Amino acid sequence: MLDVTRRQNPLDMRPADRMPREIAPGVFWIGDCLAQRHKGKVYHGYNAAFLVAGDAASILVETGHPKDFPVIERHLNELFARGVPPLKYLFVTHQETPHCGGLGRILKAFPDALLVGDVSDYHLAFPQYEHRMRAMHEGEEIDLGGRGFMAVEPVIRDLRTTWWGFDTRERVLFPGDGFAYSHYHEDGHCGLVAEEAVSLDLPDVSSTFADLALFWTKFADMNVYCDRLDHLIARLGVKTIAPTHGLPITDVAATVPKVQAGLKAAALMPETGTNEKAATAAP
Ligand SMILES: [Zn+2]
Ligand SMILES: [Zn+2]
Repeated sequence: MLDVTRRQNPLDMRPADRMPREIAPGVFWIGDCLAQRHKGKVYHGYNAAFLVAGDAASILVETGHPKDFPVIERHLNELFARGVPPLKYLFVTHQETPHCGGLGRILKAFPDALLVGDVSDYHLAFPQYEHRMRAMHEGEEIDLGGRGFMAVEPVIRDLRTTWWGFDTRERVLFPGDGFAYSHYHEDGHCGLVAEEAVSLDLPDVSSTFADLALFWTKFADMNVYCDRLDHLIARLGVKTIAPTHGLPITDVAATVPKVQAGLKAAALMPETGTNEKAATAAP
């Protein structure tokens, strides 16, 4: 019998104890934060992974940063010990290290799992797993038993090969680098959803992240991208958003406009440069 209910209020728990966190029925947020220094502040960013559990099989979305693999593996094993169905699929939104840096280790640790989504070039790094790679295209869906996982339009993307994912049962969108924003460890934001982190200035942290990581947004009309995002959210009936770098969004109507305001603001600012090179103290 699957017992995954967290009865304790996450706000009363230590950040390290808040994960794995079930953000929608059968959708578990796992992973760890990464500290980065910018303008004299220590920003935390997530390189999150999510496990979506169907009745027959589970899919892992993203692998976390390479440094996070021990944490990701511990969280996964904790969930499987609690009765979550076995890992049959791994979906990564794109080929950047914080998204797919644990790919080889996941395929090694879970020999029944297939890599799905965009699979270009991975066979060059992992020829031994080429027979376990399956390309997915927009609208294609994997049956997990009682729920499907679909590849959907990547409205805000980092690489040309990006796909976003979508859980058809609880209507959770996995937008990779879309909805990317940092949070503040000192304010206790780690492990909270966006709506719980009440002191987090979403337009500000969203524009900072776009400035540092999504350089192309300086040269694009972000109104067009935000309109397209609204269109996708309405078409799919998205109820929860599970970004790789931001805090999960559980009130789409209230929170998405704040992130969009940050994207539009960042597009109008000149680029400020990459992260400061000064050594950071341990968080
Ligand atoms: Zn990213
Ligand atoms: Zn954090």
